[in-house]
Amino acid sequence: MIAAIVFAATVFAVNQGSIAFVTFPDQAGVKSMELHWSDKKIPVVHTENKWETVVGIDLDIKAGDHDAEVDVTYNDGKVEKRPIVFSVGSVKFPTTELTVDDQFVRLSPANQQRAARETKELEKIYATLTPEILWSKPFRSPIPGQTKGSNFGHRRVFNGQPRAPHSGADLKASTGTPIHATNRGRVVLAKNLFFTGNTVVLDHGLGIYTIYAHLSRIDVKVGQTVEESQLLGLAGATGRVTGPHLHWAARIQDARVDPFSLLSIQ
Ligand SMILES: [Zn+2]
Repeated sequence: MIAAIVFAATVFAVNQGSIAFVTFPDQAGVKSMELHWSDKKIPVVHTENKWETVVGIDLDIKAGDHDAEVDVTYNDGKVEKRPIVFSVGSVKFPTTELTVDDQFVRLSPANQQRAARETKELEKIYATLTPEILWSKPFRSPIPGQTKGSNFGHRRVFNGQPRAPHSGADLKASTGTPIHATNRGRVVLAKNLFFTGNTVVLDHGLGIYTIYAHLSRIDVKVGQTVEESQLLGLAGATGRVTGPHLHWAARIQDARVDPFSLLSIQ
């Protein structure tokens, strides 16, 4: 029998639509670390006594093992490649099939154009990775006391046509309820959008964005840095909604994740 020498991969067990909080102990002589996964290069940041990063696991990613690696660069220039595995568990998100009059789902050409333009604008934001940690832990619910939402990952099929899954969590909120920043970050969008109404997007660094939608009032401006719990605006029912609530979402390196999974970062 021939024994092969293999470097055991570190396994991170995660679920579809959640996050992997990846940490490595402090190590002498290490200059930098970077996590490589599919087409993504995610910085691993040195904090007080460890190296850490957050990886978004999209709600639609295939369940099973996904190989990744961390490139560790030493002060002498040597690079070591550490294998890691994201072991992704499948989550059964609910599906609702609806038959509706076409006029309720078809947009006017003008609205279609506007929505497409805004989608592009958001895609550009989510594709940008700020290579530093802007947050100051821990993350908190934007409505103090509400520790879970509903509808994350919910798939709706209109007249046999599947729509994009619901990529955020809906929190109960009447119009005028104060909405707070989940953590420290920079305001990268603060305006009215076709689907999500008055919307605020915060950049927390390392590709982590949080989104607050359907607001009745926006109290922050693009470029401004907000602190954890700072007032962003008031809940409302702007955009394509049937009633007031807060739609809270998170994009992490463009992956759609349940925003409440951020609360597990410590
Ligand atoms: Zn929603």
